[in-house]
Amino acid sequence: MERVRFLARVCALLVGAALLLGAAACRNAEPAGATPTAVLPTPGLGTPPAAREADQAAALLPPFQGDLALLGQATQYAITATLLEDERLILGQASIRYTNTEAVPLDALVLRLYPNLMGPGAGLDLEAVWVDGRAVQPDLRQEASVARLPLAPPLSPGQGLTLTLAFRTQVSPEPSRGYGAFGVHEGTWTLAGFYPLVAVYDETGWNEEIPPEHGDMVYSDMAFYRVVWEAPEGYVLASTGSVVEEAEKDGHRVWTLVSGPAREFNLALSRDYQVATWDAPSGTRLRSFYFPAHAAVGQAVLDYARRAFRLYEDLFGPYPYRELDLAEAGVGAAGIEYPGLILVAEGLYARADPFTEFVVAHEMAHQWWYNLVGNDQVDEPWLDEALANYSTVLYFERIHGPEEAGAILATFRQRYENLVREGRDAAVAQPSGAFPRADYGVLVYQKGALFLDALRSAVGDEAFLAILRQYGAQYRYRIARGQDFLRVAEGVSGKDLGPLYHQWLYGVRKGP
Ligand SMILES: [Zn+2]
Repeated sequence: MERVRFLARVCALLVGAALLLGAAACRNAEPAGATPTAVLPTPGLGTPPAAREADQAAALLPPFQGDLALLGQATQYAITATLLEDERLILGQASIRYTNTEAVPLDALVLRLYPNLMGPGAGLDLEAVWVDGRAVQPDLRQEASVARLPLAPPLSPGQGLTLTLAFRTQVSPEPSRGYGAFGVHEGTWTLAGFYPLVAVYDETGWNEEIPPEHGDMVYSDMAFYRVVWEAPEGYVLASTGSVVEEAEKDGHRVWTLVSGPAREFNLALSRDYQVATWDAPSGTRLRSFYFPAHAAVGQAVLDYARRAFRLYEDLFGPYPYRELDLAEAGVGAAGIEYPGLILVAEGLYARADPFTEFVVAHEMAHQWWYNLVGNDQVDEPWLDEALANYSTVLYFERIHGPEEAGAILATFRQRYENLVREGRDAAVAQPSGAFPRADYGVLVYQKGALFLDALRSAVGDEAFLAILRQYGAQYRYRIARGQDFLRVAEGVSGKDLGPLYHQWLYGVRKGP
C-alpha cells in the first residue's frame, strides 16, 4: 500500500518535473526602466565591499580552502540588500568583479534579470549601472529578463572590469512562473534570482534565452558572493553559504554571508522557522528549517538528508562547504535545488513518507550534479536531472535495499514504455523548451535515468561508480556537457559507449 502510493507520487513528481501549483503562462512583464544617474539612488546603504578571497574561505571546510586558488578569475559579487516587507521590495546595490575568461574580446556584458519573467507584481529594475565608474545604459531584451551592457572598447581576454549597480526588486505574493521559488507565501520569502546574475558566455555566445515554464532556469558559472542582507527583526534565515557576521541595526537584523564557489545565491526567510541540525564528521552542518506544526517531518527531512549526504560523499566525492540548508517553503515544485540550499514543498510535510524521502535524496544529489559540477540546465537539462534521479535510485538501493530501487526503476520503465506506445518518445538530449511540458519529466528524468541504468549494465557496477566519481572530480567547479560525461565513461571503462549513448539520448522509438 505504502509503495503503491509512493510510486504513484514519484510519478506525479517526475511526469511534470514538479508539482505545479497552477502556474499560468505570463511573459508580458513590463520592461524595467533604467535611468543612470550620477548618484546612487539608494542612499544609506554605502558601497558594497569587494568579495575578498579571505572572506570566501569562511564558507569552506579547511581541507578545501585551497580550492579558491583554482577559481581566481571567477566573478565576484558583493551585494548589499534591504528587505522592505510591507512594500515587498528589495533595495540593493551590487559591485560585480568580472574577468573575461573567454578566448575572444567581449563587446558586451550580459546580465539576467529573472524576476522580470515571474509574472505580474514581480520585477527587477536596474536603477543605475556603471562600468569601471562610467555610467552605461543597459539594453533590455527578452521581456526585460536580459540586460546587455555595451563595452567600448571591448574587454580583452584576461582583462577585468568592475560593474557597480543599484537595483530594486519587487517580490510578488503570487509568482506565476519559476515554481514560485521567487515570491512570498504566508510570510515565508524565497528569493531565487533576486539580484542581477551574469549570464554564461560559451561557444554559442551569451546565453540569453527565456527558459520554458517547465525545467530549471539558471545556467551559470561558479562565482563568489558576499551578501549583506538586512531585514526586520524576527526572521530566521536559510541560505546559500555561511553567515559570517550578524548584527542589530535600528530594529533590523543585518547578516553578512559568504558563499564560497556557488552558481547562484538564494535565501529563504520566515519568522516561524524552527531548526534541526546535524553535524557531519567532516565538519559540514546540515540544517532542516520547518514550520512548528511539522517538527516530526522536519526531523525526518534532516535524517534523509544526512543519509544522502554520507552516501553521496562516499560515492561522488567530498562536499567542500561548511553548511547545507533544507527549508520548508510554499513553492510549486516538490523540491528545488540551489547551491547550499534546498527548498522542499510545504505539502510534503504532512507526513514523513517515501515520496518526501525521494524528493530529499534527489535534491541532495543536485549539490553534486548542478552545483559542484555545473551544466546548462536550459539546453542540456538531462545531464543533471538524470544523474540526480539515478543517484536517488542508488540511495534507495543502499539505504532500503535492491528491491526498493528495482521498484523505482520499474516505474520509470513503465512510464517510458507508455510514452513509446503513445508515439510520444523523443530524444533525451534536447533543450527543455523542445519538450512538450507533459512529457518533460518522463523523457528527461526517467528515460535519462534509464540510460544511466543501461550504462551501469554495460560497464558493471564497479566501473559505473568509478565513472560517476571521476566525472565529479574532473568537472568539479566547472561546466560539463553530455559529451564530457561520455568521454569520462569511455575513458574509465575502456569501452566504446557511443552507440549506447546515442541510442538512449538521441534515439526515438516508434509506437505500435
Ligand atoms: Zn532535479
